[in-house]
This record gives sequence, structure tokens and C-alpha cells, in this order.
Amino acid sequence: MKRFPSLKPALLLTALAFQSVAAEQVDILVYADHVVTMDPSGALLTDAGIAIDDGIIVDLGSRKFIESNYTGRDVLDDKSRIALPGLINGHSHAALSLFRGIADDLALFDWLNDYIFPAENQFADREFVRLGTELACWEMIRGGTTTFVDMYYFPDTVAETVERCGMRALVAATIIDKESPDSDGAEQSLRQGVEFIKRWKNRNPRITPILGPHANFTLSEKQLRDTRTTANQLGVGISVHVSESKFMNEYSIEKFGKTNIAMFESIDFFDGPTITAHVVWPTDEEIEILARRNVGVIHNPNSNMKLAAGIAPITKMIEAGVTIGLGTDSTASNNDLDMWEEMNLAALLQKAATLDPQALPAKKALALATIEGAKAIGLDDKIGSLSPGKRADVILVSYDNVHQLPMYDVISHLVYVTDQQDVRSTIVDGKVLMRNLEVLTIDTDRVAHESKLKAEQIRESIISKARNREVTQ
Ligand SMILES: [Zn+2]
Repeated sequence: MKRFPSLKPALLLTALAFQSVAAEQVDILVYADHVVTMDPSGALLTDAGIAIDDGIIVDLGSRKFIESNYTGRDVLDDKSRIALPGLINGHSHAALSLFRGIADDLALFDWLNDYIFPAENQFADREFVRLGTELACWEMIRGGTTTFVDMYYFPDTVAETVERCGMRALVAATIIDKESPDSDGAEQSLRQGVEFIKRWKNRNPRITPILGPHANFTLSEKQLRDTRTTANQLGVGISVHVSESKFMNEYSIEKFGKTNIAMFESIDFFDGPTITAHVVWPTDEEIEILARRNVGVIHNPNSNMKLAAGIAPITKMIEAGVTIGLGTDSTASNNDLDMWEEMNLAALLQKAATLDPQALPAKKALALATIEGAKAIGLDDKIGSLSPGKRADVILVSYDNVHQLPMYDVISHLVYVTDQQDVRSTIVDGKVLMRNLEVLTIDTDRVAHESKLKAEQIRESIISKARNREVTQ
């Protein structure tokens, strides 16, 4: 009706008949009570629809407008839903989901050196990575995460798993100077990383291969320089752990005479697309470097709290112009992949740290998990908001479960009330990966069964090791 406001009834009928013939057929129509676009205008549509075709958002508008102009081969139209861009998890080690809760309540370096590195060396083979990544992808699809940045071993296996389950990911080949599950040191891991990039670059538009130099306490200056040079030659980005704990600055000062980020800057490490995870202890000068070099920073509040790493100065970095996204880090230090929790904690931590209730308001926290996260990982031309022309990564979230009632403000509700159990449907690149709570691209029963079996093996090995320790003591 809106399109023919001045037509007389007879003409209007003709126009409507013509219009229904002319309605464009698209792959999917999504309808929701509220559509949170996260586009630059901040538009929040009520009773609206999204038209998706060939993996792309082709249009969005009022329900009437979409109904008049499009027919869908598939329609997602269940009641009481909020549609928003899929969440972006900017830092993870997906396969470590198989170590969920294996060692809690420890400081970062005790946790890493005494538990995670040894357990990885014992268990993390190709099959472990396939199963752990699948378990993580299931949880992310279930919880409304559509894109993640991963850093782990056997990156081909990670990428193959992502390819199968339909998610979008930046997959980093880990570069580390110690014997690891897939290499004997930095040189081999970099060589393998190059081969991985060559195999996956331009292979699948959902998968972006990158390099993942672990940190500057696990690589030498030369190895870090070589990694950056190689990444630039290959035309790919880098993901790296930066300034996660006070130790990293102390180590960096002792070894290189500079704090962590200043050391990276001194070797031109930020001379190319870089995603830094954590950044809990930057100096004022280092914050200025991150802004000037356009470095993406991924804040992992849950992991930083659990490993007692500290509180990252997110508000200060945002004010200085640094691009911030959110991440979960691994399940082993979290102990889940719930991006709703990260949004909530990010907002609350900044208020507690600055004694300012307006620090990191809900809308900003939601932006960090969507459009700002997309900028931080260099994909904001494709994802992060619901705008015509962007790839169709869309999630539908319920807001009328009893534990969610009542709702006065959509954005506040998403950040302070919603968790991953409230996500109903997940669409990535125009494909429905979860529909009304059913994950369609991963066999739920098989993954659950295999994960329990693997955990039994891990448990038995840990118990028998502990027994051996007791006997020898
Ligand atoms: Zn990490």
C-alpha cells in the first residue's frame, strides 16, 4: 500500500496484481519484532523483515514492505524475536573446548606451563583438533556467534571443520618457538604456516587464513620480524597475544628493554593488519601506538578475570581511537564460548574499574561484539551490521522466555539479560546453521558422544599420572 498511496481502488487492485507478479524471489526472508541493524545510523526497526539472496542481505525494511516486494524460498518467521548481526568472537583457541574445566583457579603462567602446554603436547593431535573445534563450533552456532578468530595447531583441520559446519572464521597457524603438537619449533611452524596460507588463501570466502605468532615471550625478535615479513609477502594478517599479564611487560623489559607493545612497535611488527588479543597492561604511549597503527584489540574479560590477568583499560583505549572487539579466549580459561557473557562482563568491568556507571554503555558493548569487532578483525566491509550488500550473518534471539520478562529496552536486554540459550536461529552467509534451536550442520549426538569418550581418555591419563607422582614421592 505504501508504494501506491494515491491510487483509486480499481487501479490499486491492478497495481497489486502487477506487484505480486513483480515480487522478487529470494533465498530467505527473516521476520522479527525488532531488527537491531548496528549500521552507522543506529537504526532499530520494529516489526520488520530482511531479504537474503545468494548469501547477501539484499534489503531490509518494515514487514509490509518486505512482504510486498519479496517472496522467500525459505521464511523464518516465528514469534517474539529480535534479529541482529551474528556475534564476532575475536579471539579463541577452539579445539581447547575439550579441556573445559581441566584446571581452574590458577594464575596465567602456572595454568599455561603446568597444565595446558603439557596436556596439549600429550593429547592435541589432528583428531583432537577436529573434535575440539567441532565441539566449539556447535557451541558458537548454538549461542549466536557467526564468526571467530582462531589460533591453534593443525590449522588445516580447523579450517576444514569450519568449512563443514558453515561458520565464518579467520584461522591462524600458530607460530611458536617450542616443541608443539604440530611442529618442533618456530622455523618449522612458520614454514608450515606458509604452506597452510597457500592452501587456503582464496579457497573459501568464509575462511581467511592468517598467521598466529603466539607472543613475544614465546618467540625471538628475529622470529617475530620474520613472521611479519612473511605475512606481508603473503598478503595476510596476524593474530598475536599482547600485554596479557604484568609478566609480559616485565619479561619484555628484561629481554628487550621495552614494554610489550613498545617492543613490537620498535620492530615494525604492526606494519600490516594485526589483531592483538588481551592488551590488559598498555602504557599511555602504547595506547597511542595502537590507535595510530590501526591495530585491532580483542578484549577477553572473562578469561582476564579468571586468570587474574587484570582489567584492560577499554574505555581509555576507545577514547584514544583504538578499535576494540570482544573474544572468549579458549574454553579452558573461560569456561565457555558465550559472547553474551563477554558483552555483559565488558560493560560491568569498565564501570567497576572507572567508578563510572556510564562507562561502556550497553549499546557500545553490543557494538564491540558486532560492528566494532568486525572492524578489529578487518571484515567490516562484509559483516558486523545488517545493511544491504553485506554478507547475511544474522541471528534470531527470543525475548519472551519467562526468565527474560519483561522487556523495556531491546539493547539493554541483549547485553544484560540474554545468554546463549536464548538464541533461536543462526544464519551465516545466507545459510541457516541453526533453526529453532536445532543445529543443522553438526551432528549434535555424535559430537556429544565423542567428546565424552575423549574426556574419559584425558581423565584416565591425568589420574594415572597423579598416581605415579604419588608413588615416586
Ligand atoms: Zn589466547
